[in-house]
Amino acid sequence: MGPVTRAGSISTAERARSIDALERDAFDLAIVGGGITGAGIAREAALRGLRVALLEAEDFASGTSSRSSKLIHGGLRYLAQGEVGLVRETALERKVIHRLAPHLAERRWMVLPVRSRASLLKFRAAITTYEKLGAVERDDLHRNWGAAELDEEEPALDRNEWRFACAYREYLTDDARLVLANLRAAAGQGAISLNHAPVTEITLENGRAAGVVARCRLSGRELRVRASCVVNAAGAWVEALRRFEDEAAPPLLHLSKGVHIGIPATRLPVRNLLLLQTQDHRGIFALRRDEIVFIGTTDTTYARGADLWPVITRADVEYLLEPLRRYLTTEKLEVSDVRTSWSGLRPLVAEPGKPPAETSRKDEILIGRAGVITIAGGKLTGYRPTALRTLERIERVLGRTFAAVGEGEPLPGGDFSGDLVSIARGLESEYRLDGVTGMRLARLYGSEADSVAKLGAKRLAAGAPVIAGEVDWAVMHEGAATVEDVLYRRTRAALYEADARASIAAPIAARMAELLGWSEAQAGEQIALARARLDADLDFRDSEA
Ligand code: FAD
Repeated sequence: MGPVTRAGSISTAERARSIDALERDAFDLAIVGGGITGAGIAREAALRGLRVALLEAEDFASGTSSRSSKLIHGGLRYLAQGEVGLVRETALERKVIHRLAPHLAERRWMVLPVRSRASLLKFRAAITTYEKLGAVERDDLHRNWGAAELDEEEPALDRNEWRFACAYREYLTDDARLVLANLRAAAGQGAISLNHAPVTEITLENGRAAGVVARCRLSGRELRVRASCVVNAAGAWVEALRRFEDEAAPPLLHLSKGVHIGIPATRLPVRNLLLLQTQDHRGIFALRRDEIVFIGTTDTTYARGADLWPVITRADVEYLLEPLRRYLTTEKLEVSDVRTSWSGLRPLVAEPGKPPAETSRKDEILIGRAGVITIAGGKLTGYRPTALRTLERIERVLGRTFAAVGEGEPLPGGDFSGDLVSIARGLESEYRLDGVTGMRLARLYGSEADSVAKLGAKRLAAGAPVIAGEVDWAVMHEGAATVEDVLYRRTRAALYEADARASIAAPIAARMAELLGWSEAQAGEQIALARARLDADLDFRDSEA
């Protein structure tokens, strides 16, 4: 049996104590970057008994790890590119993530509509290989849908054009919450993670990395963290970090932008994960998540550099709307129907001459001149294998071998055996919540949803499915320090709650002010910042310039 993973907490109220410990203690590992790569490494390292410190410049998961398509998938399309090893690894990994956090890996049908039986047969060959690679269970094997099933499952699909469909299993996750769950599991093993603390320097001793310097953005305090090994898991920002170690480090990445848009499910009645082809023959998804259907993604070179909020253009939005008009019989959707959006940057390892869509999603792990371990590329789904490969390099740098610990215990919120509907029903009767709210809480918090509701089951605003306890939980256990942190990466209201997202900023700020001792002016500033961000999400530009 592996070591027990206790559900740790990252409390913003105890932030000053965390900073003291980061300055006082000596660590085996300092990880720069609190996205899924850094969080996965933190958990695996902490499970093996390493003393881990993790520093995140903005909020945990605020980079690419909150902007993905939220699929735990093997990437069927990469098979066509000959990436069998990558597809096998990620396809198998789906089951592991489902075991560790069933609420963050919800089985769904991915539906590929086709025009003819011949197309269906052609696709079946690929899907059968994919299922073999992923050791898919019998009950989860793909099925072919005809008129009757399509009427039932995807009634909005234009059946004059799309008469058949192949439905195969993929998993829907919540990327930011998967990051938080890993960080909390690491915290349960003694790791210390601090957000809003950019690393500004890698300290060197005799030419070897010996720790990092960071600045706490909330207090202005500078902190020096001593560590025997430094890991650069800064995603789209890894190159900037590498230059702290080696000013002449060559460029490594090709940044590709991916945009998603959200449309209320009342306007776009998609039920499963629908796979659509764009006019330039790329696959994009339309995914139902609670009351929103999100559509994505684009895949275009982003020349502006590693922006935290990559610019979304009207052309990006039009590109995503176009296939909906060809596949669905719903009223024509316009840019003005878009109610939420997000964009992120894929930190792909550059392969000169290849367009982004054909560039490999494999990770690459490098050890730099001063011994800093840098991870580039990779996928959310493969975060554990990436972490395990990184640990091998850490062993090399530390000159130690770590014991194998297996998968470890479920992530926080993942220790339940029934399904999400049972959790939701329990919440509905215990706290008199409606079905939508119950299901939403079950998806976000899994087995911990009850503890969240106990903290306060009252809605934050009329018509908003977000409840008061979520704010307390975010601050006390998940390191939320700003209203934006709660809106975007804890409750996910900014992405999935089109109607409520603006109205709950003020009640979130009011509760955070009580918990964290904000003045009225500080709370007001927080509300203004969050609202400006929400407005910016829907301010689509004419160009990226
Ligand atoms: P990030 O999440 O960006 O984390 C890096 C962190 O480092 C950031 O939070 C940043 O603030 C921090 N940082 C930067 N500089 C510093 C500093 N100086 N000090 C401290 N911290 C710093 N994968 C899938 O498996 N399934 C999908 O459906 C999927 N969809 C995708 C859709 C899109 C549009 C995109 C862009 C990617 C998608 N991916 C998907 C890929 C996946 O999202 C990424 O591989 C993954 O999130 C990268 O995580 P990361 O931790 O490496 O980077």
